[in-house]
This record gives sequence, structure tokens and C-alpha cells, in this order.
Amino acid sequence: MPTIHQAVLIPGDGIGPAVSAAVLKILKAANAPVAFHEHHAGIAALEAGGEVLPQSTIDAVREHHVALKGPCTTPVGKGFTSVNVQLRKKLDLYAAIRPVRSLPGVPTRYEDVDLVIFRENTEGLYAGVENEITSGVVTSLKIATRTACTRIAEQAFKYAKKRGRKKVTVFHKANILKLSDGLFLDCVKEVHESEFSEIPYETQIIDAGCMKLVQDPTQFDLLLMENLYGDVISDLTAGLVGGLGVVPGSNIGVEDSIFEAVHGSAPDIAGQGIANPLALLMSGVMMLNHLAETRKDDRCLKAANAIKNAYNQALQDNQKTRDLGGTLGTDAFADAVIERLA
Ligand code: ATP
Repeated sequence: MPTIHQAVLIPGDGIGPAVSAAVLKILKAANAPVAFHEHHAGIAALEAGGEVLPQSTIDAVREHHVALKGPCTTPVGKGFTSVNVQLRKKLDLYAAIRPVRSLPGVPTRYEDVDLVIFRENTEGLYAGVENEITSGVVTSLKIATRTACTRIAEQAFKYAKKRGRKKVTVFHKANILKLSDGLFLDCVKEVHESEFSEIPYETQIIDAGCMKLVQDPTQFDLLLMENLYGDVISDLTAGLVGGLGVVPGSNIGVEDSIFEAVHGSAPDIAGQGIANPLALLMSGVMMLNHLAETRKDDRCLKAANAIKNAYNQALQDNQKTRDLGGTLGTDAFADAVIERLA
């Protein structure tokens, strides 16, 4: 009996359940050898009468090691701490890897964007250590540790070496944040010099880096940075290739990995059947490639390639959702991809 890989599905909230359902339908049609166990987090978990991040959801990811996750809303201001941030911290998913590529049939200002964002996922200002010292005065601690800065640098250079990326650029603000971003820079430099000196490496102050990114993104390749900068730059670079509907991501730890789109729960379009499922679908393809590599299973690779060819073909045939200038709804786009599965 051939192995069926077990994975967790966290549909999330907002547009999450709709894009998750579309992606599951495509994975099934592509004969991806994966069985999903559904667990809740965020508002969906609260509505099901549980905790915002149920222990059973964390345990399920620990058991199966791989999860596909829809977005979970993070309320602004008071309310619960971001479920996304909590999950990454609890499971120590220290590396967010987000490929940002131009797509066929999706015309944008630039044609050949091919970037990878490496975002440190567990500390920085997103450590969530905030205090009101006295009325009207608050502090938010930015945490940087040698361990976390070094391991994200190691992952980034390993990835660059394995995939033949041309250059690693660190975005930072060490001219102002001399200790925290200074430590990040020191760690990256040490990793580069000790193990990866053959890979071209440069540093870039992030504000000037943003200007250069929008002037000509093709001058960059792999971008490495701490948590908050990575969050912002992910959305900025998404805008270079068609928007948040087309940028996938993975959150990788030592044991466990969660694959999720860069976008949030998009409450402005939730429930309308118009969300683009492509970013989560591409995250699903990343998950299949991860399974193919870690479990040595060519069926996962085959399904991943078939889905990738099918969505590229659908886009080229002008089968697009509204965010990309098309007219299709979430389900109709999923059907257009399924029709093109070889
Ligand atoms: P968060 O801070 O929770 O990550 P965000 O800042 O990434 O959220 P989103 O919720 O992703 O914000 O939405 C930003 C904008 O992008 C919204 O106008 C939303 O409608 C649009 N958007 C996001 N994802 C999609 C999608 N899959 N399809 C179509 N439009 C989307």
C-alpha cells in the first residue's frame, strides 16, 4: 500500500476557508498523496468554543510535522496576540521563506522579478514584549539573540547555495539600531565568512533598499532580514508581481513546517467568493516539494509540477480572479486550474 502523507489543515478565517477549500479540491484532482486533518486556530477556534490557539492544533502539527494554513485575523490594538506569531514561536518555525516571482499572463511593471525573502520569524519587535510603563508611555522590546540571527543566516546561505541563487542581501537599520541590527549583521557576516564565502553577499540599509526595490527589483536576489522588516518587505515585493493573491510562503523549523500565503484574512472581501486561492495553492505546491524532498516521494514532486504547470497555463489563458484583472471567482479559478491538470 503506497504511503499517504498525513498533514494538518488550518483553514483560518476571513477568506481562509474559501481559499483552503479551493486548494484542497485542486490537490485532490492532482492526486497529491496527502491526507489532511482539519484543526482550527484564531477566530474560527473561538467560534468553535475553544481557545484562540487550541493545544490540539499545536499537538497535531507536532504529530504530523507539516501543515497547510489559511490566514488568521489579528485584531488591531487590544484583543488576542497574533495567532500566526504564536504558532511560529510555539513550534519554533524560525525561517519564513517567501518566493516572489513574476507570473506568466500577469503583466506588471517589471517582467523578470525572481526574489526570495528570508524572514527571521521568532523574535525582533514581534517577540511581543510590550509594557505600559506609566499612563501614556509604552515600550516594545526588540529582541535579537545570537542563536536566532545565526540560524536564519545559515538557512538563507544554505538555500542560496543549494538553489544557485546569485546573491544574498541583508536589509537592516544598524546605523540607528546599533545593538540589535548590529548583532544581526555580525552573525550573518560570520556565517558568510565561515562557510559560504563563495556566495556574493552585501548589506543594504532598509530604507534605501526599499527605494532600489521599486526602481529595479531585478538587482536583488535573496533578501535576508529580521522579523518586522520581513513582514513589510514581503507585502512590498508582492506588489511587484501582482499583489498578495500570488505570493506563497513557508515557515520552517527543525521538526515542523507550516505552509501559508503571505496575505492576511482580507476581511474586506471575505464571504464574497472572489478571493484568489493562488497564493495558498502555491504554498501547497511548496508543501508538496518539501514532502518530495524530506520523504523522498516522487509522487509529491509530480503533483507539484502538474499543479504549477496548470496554474501557469490558466493564467496564460487569461483565467484570472479579479485582483489580477480577471472576472473569475475563487471556485471558478480552481476549476480552470483543474481543467488544465495534465
Ligand atoms: P495581515 O496583516 O493580517 O497579514 P495584510 O496586511 O497582509 O494582513 P490582507 O488581509 O492580506 O492584509 O489584505 C490586504 C489587501 O489585499 C486587501 O485589500 C485584500 O482584499 C487584498 N487581498 C489579500 N489577499 C487576497 C487574495 N487572496 N485575493 C484577493 N485579494 C486579496
